[in-house]
Amino acid sequence: MNAIGENIISLKRELPSGVKLVAVSKTKPVSDILQAYNAGQRIFGENRVGELLAKKDQLPGDIEWHLIGHLQTNKVKSIISFVSLIHSVDSFRLLKTINDEALKMSRVVSCLLQFHIATEETKFGFSIEEALKMMDSEEFSNLRSVRICGVMGMATFTDDKNLVSSEFRSLAGYFRLLKERFFKNNPEFCVISMGMSDDFRIAIGEGSTMVRIGSLIFGKRK
Ligand SMILES: *Cc1c(COP(=O)(O)O)cnc(C)c1O
Repeated sequence: MNAIGENIISLKRELPSGVKLVAVSKTKPVSDILQAYNAGQRIFGENRVGELLAKKDQLPGDIEWHLIGHLQTNKVKSIISFVSLIHSVDSFRLLKTINDEALKMSRVVSCLLQFHIATEETKFGFSIEEALKMMDSEEFSNLRSVRICGVMGMATFTDDKNLVSSEFRSLAGYFRLLKERFFKNNPEFCVISMGMSDDFRIAIGEGSTMVRIGSLIFGKRK
């Protein structure tokens, strides 16, 4: 087997049974994605809509495509008919747009709420206060075409493992708080998407149920 296929197999062997693998294929060619596919991988993550659309049509139809990067409201329409999970819902406005477009397609689209857990200024996401305010609103409770399946977050890019751990711990805490308050008897709210190539072991230690791994599978990006 090729290197990409072997990386998939060994990662799957390492991940605990409750942790799903999203293979992050951004910037990588369709041929690389096919190698991962042929090793059994079915969930792929892309962070740009244009790139996702271009690749999707050249690849098998049973791939589950996840959008993991910042999504502009004007691009929602182009992915809504097929996307399996949007990890990067970072505003109420975006969630409402997803709901409206999903309704037009008679779909219910699965989404994660992205939280800002890192110390860096640049990363997108809700604060817990913003998320609670949204979820307490009547407008939120009227959304019928989105399914909130959990939370997503990215830790600070640092060698400080304690900082990374504590950021993942807060995300897992937000998950539990939201579960308790809004999704107590709802088994669909079950995803904690955290952990990338450099920090997925820490994320799993803090309760991750879904890791998003790119360079460890496909090699470094340019
Ligand atoms: C690129 C990216 C990843 C994967 O990063 P690696 O370090 O290559 O594993 C995961 N999540 C998001 C949101 C990304 O943009």
